[in-house]
Amino acid sequence: MQGKIIKGIAGFYYIHVSQKGIYECKAKGIFRNQKIKPLVGDNVEIEVLDEEKKLGNIISILPRQNELIRPAVANVDQALVIFAAADPNPNLNLLDRFLIMMSKQEVETYVCFNKQDIVTAIEQKLLEETYRLGGYHVIFTSALQGEGLQQIKDIVKSKTTVLAGPSGVGKSSIINSLIPTAQMEVGSISEKIKRGKHTTRHSELFAIDDDSFIFDTPGFSSLYIDNFEKEELKSYFPEFLPYEEYCRFQGCAHINEPQCGVKQALEEGKISKTRYENYLLLYNELKDKKKY
Ligand code: GDP
Ligand code: ZN
Repeated sequence: MQGKIIKGIAGFYYIHVSQKGIYECKAKGIFRNQKIKPLVGDNVEIEVLDEEKKLGNIISILPRQNELIRPAVANVDQALVIFAAADPNPNLNLLDRFLIMMSKQEVETYVCFNKQDIVTAIEQKLLEETYRLGGYHVIFTSALQGEGLQQIKDIVKSKTTVLAGPSGVGKSSIINSLIPTAQMEVGSISEKIKRGKHTTRHSELFAIDDDSFIFDTPGFSSLYIDNFEKEELKSYFPEFLPYEEYCRFQGCAHINEPQCGVKQALEEGKISKTRYENYLLLYNELKDKKKY
């Protein structure tokens, strides 16, 4: 029988099996000698030891589509990051860090700004353009007024989605709206996510339906960028690319160099000031890190 690991605690793995429920399994001895360790998100083959008590063993891990390091989860299709358009004002530096982290791991990311109802059309347009220029899908929602939620439903349908965002932005409200009412009685996902924030976190996949899963990213408030060279950073700002051919120097970092196409574009308002400022900040952070 095949299923998906939704949680792992102290040597036990919880396997979601479509139509059947959740089985508590141990990874059998075969894994001990191998480098591969079962990960949340893994699709596995299990043998059932006790159907009544829903107990079994994992006998093999099916090939992984991918494997993220941060957060540690396998077989991710995409990421969805949620901020509030206002109240609290979006921390765009944090957002950019997340986008870079996902892009480095080759995971496509959707950017959602919730609380659309409390910003002006102009404020909304500014946010939208900032991220659309960077090549991201931008969605506006109001969980309060039920606006834009169908888009989120369509995005997460039949996929495994890494979900991220600081608290207070309406993440729980949005998640609640995704769950079919039939599953509500099991205890709403958002309540579990909420509780998780205040207790020791176990990374866990939540099933929205039989083939749609979301993975709430723990520790979102302290993302740091590392493991790459500062020279590499600019490639994570795809909106710079069309202007790089106007830079005088090859390998221009777009900071202090004369005749820089990117800085020119910035002056002409073709590149978002916020994104460029975040680029500078992160660049200097990477530079300083090197010194130690
Ligand atoms: P979480 O901490 O991100 O899970 O956020 P919650 O879903 O608990 O919402 C935080 C607060 O924002 C609550 O007071 C919600 O009523 C409010 N809220 C959520 N969505 C919206 C929205 O679309 N518009 C407005 N104005 N408030 C919202
Ligand atoms: Zn340049």
